[in-house]
Amino acid sequence: MAFSLDLTADSTRNALRPSTAPEKPSLIGLTRAEMAEALVATGVVPERQAKMRVQQLWHWLYVRGVSDFAHMFNISKDLRAALAEHFAISRPEIVEEQISNDGTRKWLFRFPPRGAGRPVEIETVYIPEEGRGTLCISSQVGCTLTCSFCHTGTQKLVRNLTAEEILAQLLSARDRLGDFPDRDTPAGAIVPSEGRKVSNIVMMGMGEPLYNFDAVKKALLIASDGDGLALSKRRITLSTSGVVPEIYRTGEEIGVMLAISLHATNDDLRDLLVPINKKFPLKELMKACREYPGLSNARRITFEYVMLKDVNDSLEDAKALVQLLKGIPAKINLIPFNPWPGSNYQCSDWEQIEKFADYINAAGYASPIRTPRGRDILAACGQLKSESERLKKSERLALEAMMIAGHGEA
Ligand code: SAH
Ligand code: SF4
Repeated sequence: MAFSLDLTADSTRNALRPSTAPEKPSLIGLTRAEMAEALVATGVVPERQAKMRVQQLWHWLYVRGVSDFAHMFNISKDLRAALAEHFAISRPEIVEEQISNDGTRKWLFRFPPRGAGRPVEIETVYIPEEGRGTLCISSQVGCTLTCSFCHTGTQKLVRNLTAEEILAQLLSARDRLGDFPDRDTPAGAIVPSEGRKVSNIVMMGMGEPLYNFDAVKKALLIASDGDGLALSKRRITLSTSGVVPEIYRTGEEIGVMLAISLHATNDDLRDLLVPINKKFPLKELMKACREYPGLSNARRITFEYVMLKDVNDSLEDAKALVQLLKGIPAKINLIPFNPWPGSNYQCSDWEQIEKFADYINAAGYASPIRTPRGRDILAACGQLKSESERLKKSERLALEAMMIAGHGEA
């Protein structure tokens, strides 16, 4: 596929004014019980009203996407003022918003320090497609794992994101995309879930979501709550490098769709590419996949497979892949490797990717090749960065040159 760098990509650095850092506790990311407890503990709401107030707030926060108590029209002025005195519901600062020539958007969000730490910055990507749109959400700043082809893997883990920060990525993206109902919608109105700009979410940004299980679980249960954001669990996909015990917990406690970063079909190679394989080898990983609850032809596990030239892209590898996945309702997602400065790999040749895909298709698997999107704004997998690790200008130029030369080209 032809690729050109679009130097006209719209970048708005620091143009979106920061909301003040919330020093007050946020109501975003709390379970209903936690929210009720917080409201009662501060004396803002009497215990007998707690359930009703939580219901009202839940609607404003998650159906209407309100980020200012003043807009909650069916709550008295006095109560709104008391809520605002004790709690925050504001959005994080948007440091940068970039819009690619193909419509992909990337935001750099800044979250305030937690405890003694420093503010952190993370990236979130929105990919519009015909009739749908997918938001790629981060779960950690950096990653403790060190997959050898992944840029995030070269960064140390700075910290886990909180449930609030994970949800804030979805709420802010919907704000910016105009995906919440407007102010004139009557209070309490049911808003259709069809026709949304963000119809799907994938936990495929920075970090290993299953190493931040509790916060990810809380955020995804709120995102899929039928009285709030109401994203169907079938439209939420959690991608993991293979943290086996938490795969079982994901099935039991969260129930979203699963994607596995497989990338190799034997332990020797997977140990090198995805080193967590040494702890949870393929046999255990595949067992956890087989036992993932609710699998059917309509609910398949996605296996992600990054195409690395002369490393894992032969027809023998394709055969081994089909063999390995036998009996599992599976989709295979072939990802052209996205190069980064200093990476030791090259993307497979396009012809080879097609041969590989043809073999897999013939074996009965849908195997879409993930078309790189938003490359002009470096929005692709493995290229998301935190501010502390942003590309230097020289690195960026090197990367652009690599992409123009056709490495990693699709
Ligand atoms: N930590 C999780 C989710 C984030 S990574 C995981 O590993 O699954 C999201 C996907 O991008 C994973 O499948 C990962 O293997 C892939 N990826 C990482 N770096 C990449 C690169 N440079 N090129 C292509 N895919 C990459
Ligand atoms: Fe972490 Fe996923 Fe990158 Fe591996 S591929 S280093 S688990 S973000």
